Amino acid sequence: MNRPIIALATPPLNSALALLRVSGDGVFSIADELFSKRVSGIKERRILVGYLSDEGKRIDQVVLLVYPNPRSITGEDMLEICCHGSMLIVDEIVRAFLSRGASYATRGEFTARAFYNGKMDLIEAEAVNDLINATTQEGKNLALLSLSGNTSKMVAPLKEKIASLLALLEVNIDYPEYTDLEEANDKTIGEKASALRKELSALIERGEEGKIIREGISIALVGVPNAGKSSILNALLEQEKAIVSPVPGTTRDVVEGEISLHGVPVRILDTAGIRETKDQIEGLGVERSKRAIEEADLVVLIVDASKGMGGGEREILTASKGKRTIVCYNKSDLINNKDDGRLYVCAAKKEIKPLEEAIFSSLSLSPSSFVSPSFSNARELGLLRQIDSKLQEVQEGAEEGLMSDLLSVPLQEAYNLSRRLLGEEPTQDLSEEIFSRFCVGK
Ligand code: GDP
Repeated sequence: MNRPIIALATPPLNSALALLRVSGDGVFSIADELFSKRVSGIKERRILVGYLSDEGKRIDQVVLLVYPNPRSITGEDMLEICCHGSMLIVDEIVRAFLSRGASYATRGEFTARAFYNGKMDLIEAEAVNDLINATTQEGKNLALLSLSGNTSKMVAPLKEKIASLLALLEVNIDYPEYTDLEEANDKTIGEKASALRKELSALIERGEEGKIIREGISIALVGVPNAGKSSILNALLEQEKAIVSPVPGTTRDVVEGEISLHGVPVRILDTAGIRETKDQIEGLGVERSKRAIEEADLVVLIVDASKGMGGGEREILTASKGKRTIVCYNKSDLINNKDDGRLYVCAAKKEIKPLEEAIFSSLSLSPSSFVSPSFSNARELGLLRQIDSKLQEVQEGAEEGLMSDLLSVPLQEAYNLSRRLLGEEPTQDLSEEIFSRFCVGK
């Protein structure tokens, strides 16, 4: 179904120009009724300047970008209408198309059509969304790499290798008499599965780094009252020129602010907001800290260097067991001797660089992950992990000496999962893969 759809591609605000997109069967003939020049019959991409009118009433002078199928992003006949940026004009244009059988596009429908018409695979389609939602230059660059198909190119060899292994297994089940074939003994199968898993784990690791670069992390700045949490928060927010936005709490608890550390978005969760009365101080501080710790990826415990660690700090450390934690001694100006190996800052003098560096290095991001394509969204990473667990079944099964036909079940699942990663249909019939490799049964 390629019914015509229309959507405003620019924000719904009055501005100099606005861009509308129209795609689907029959959009050129609708344009013929509305536009001052003929659009039907155009076979090459073309830019036209003219007037849009509806039932004799002129709407606007516009630039019309004409993309005949398949030479459009959706793969369908498509138009982009660049009109003056008044919402009244936009409304009139949309109504003119709606009254001629177009409907308003749903979210992502243009990209969905591009996917269904084979213009991009699922990984590239997802990259469109990542690109639009990127908040840092680094995140945007990674999305662009995926959009240009670089990420998809990494799945194809993986899928191929799984297919080869499967073919080896199947052929040995079906044609044991073919002695010239590489023998699918347990050892080779186990070794090949293990080699594939090594490749997968590199992909997963890179994907996780990419996810951090695109989506960032959240940190809980915790500590007993008066340790200097607010002062450090302020210093972090001031120091960093690249404040993305103060993020209001949405589904998460309150977030105090977001900074960009070497291009990685870092959300700082609030624990310093409430000013407690003296008596409640310790308890409340610890309670609020625990809540933030639960939500955070990384815990930063601020300790007053002039007082050292006390019961409150120890309680917080217990609560943050299992989370990556940085202990940071503040108020270094109040002490004379610094202990080796401790991280000192002085929020009062805005000397907090060491803390920023410690946060950044705790992410263990390799420099290459800022410029390499990776599978970094939840769907892709989830599928990679599922493929790995299927290959683990194969590897362990082979090591235990399971029959080949038992091993082929998880291997087929791994193959179909790698197809899903690219948005391809799962396949029941693998004979094509097998015969294309071995020419068996000629
Ligand atoms: P919070 O309760 O943990 O948020 O702590 P605040 O940031 O409100 O700081 C508590 C007190 O410590 C305030 O009086 C700050 O001025 C002071 N303070 C914060 N950082 C420093 C520092 O580096 N050196 C000194 N001498 N005082 C500091």
